[in-house]
Amino acid sequence: MKITPESKFLITGGSGLVGQALTKFLRMHGYENLKSLSSSDCDLRNGKEVEQVLSDEKPDFVFHLAAKVFGLGGNAKFKSDVLVDNVLINTNVVEASRKVNVKKIVAMGSGCVYPDFADQKPVREEQIWEGAPHPSEDSYGHSKRLMLAHLQASRSQFGTKFAFAISGNLYGPGDNFDIENGHVTPSLISKFHTAKSQGRKVSVWGTGAAIRDFTYSDDMAAALYIILQNQEGPINAGSGNRHSIREIVEILSEHTGVEVEWDGSKPDGQLARFYDMSKLEAAGFKPVVGLKEGVIKTFDWYAENFPNVRK
Ligand code: GDP
Repeated sequence: MKITPESKFLITGGSGLVGQALTKFLRMHGYENLKSLSSSDCDLRNGKEVEQVLSDEKPDFVFHLAAKVFGLGGNAKFKSDVLVDNVLINTNVVEASRKVNVKKIVAMGSGCVYPDFADQKPVREEQIWEGAPHPSEDSYGHSKRLMLAHLQASRSQFGTKFAFAISGNLYGPGDNFDIENGHVTPSLISKFHTAKSQGRKVSVWGTGAAIRDFTYSDDMAAALYIILQNQEGPINAGSGNRHSIREIVEILSEHTGVEVEWDGSKPDGQLARFYDMSKLEAAGFKPVVGLKEGVIKTFDWYAENFPNVRK
């Protein structure tokens, strides 16, 4: 499998957080033959539309990043929509890619595929199937597990090459800043921004004790490129750093001067989710943006671009 400057890349979810960062990364590395798909180009839930795009474009490589993505709130509220839409999207993209014989699919997985282990150790790729996903976001986790099973079946029957990148909790400029259904970092950035302009306190969900691997979008793009080059199967693709929700809240509170109230009626979700990164680190991956720098950069990007931000 050779990647050349002429190689053609198709990126689903091209206008999303990671899609934007990956497009920028590939361009910076001399790749110009990119087809970025967003929801206005194609409804990935429609198999015929997806087959048409794949047979028109005939990419060498597919980065499948598109998903119906929410944070804890949306994943818990819209369990059935999350499952149905993601199963359709993933099945259509993997199958259509296989039919046009792409050289490799790099698909976006999620930490929600992992079981809820009590011992709170960094999880390894081979532990995915060792138990049920955490109930708070299990339908999203199951939809990603099914995509992994589909990719494995496709490899077994047709020789499809693939990697399944298990991302951390992602954040960065250009994210969706939906405060009810989005991920924690963009939700908090939006809330702190509003509270600052209105001179109010911010209400934060839960206790702040939950631990996540927070990964900046540009670091994720760099990880995906390494994964395309030399990784196969499920691969942890976080930053390797772990932080509590409370740490993000403190960074934003200090940066904005806004005070905080904790809303104990809201859930903490899975208490710990972070990865053993030895495989991707051995392949040369090293994240460059730490939590404080990344959160402040993202807040400042949001403040500069407000109100022209996705919500
Ligand atoms: P997860 O990493 O898949 O669980 O999803 P999130 O990105 O939504 O992070 C959820 C964690 O952040 C939980 O521990 C929540 O209690 C905490 N949290 C605190 N405030 C917020 C908020 O405003 N929105 C979200 N989504 N989570 C919050």
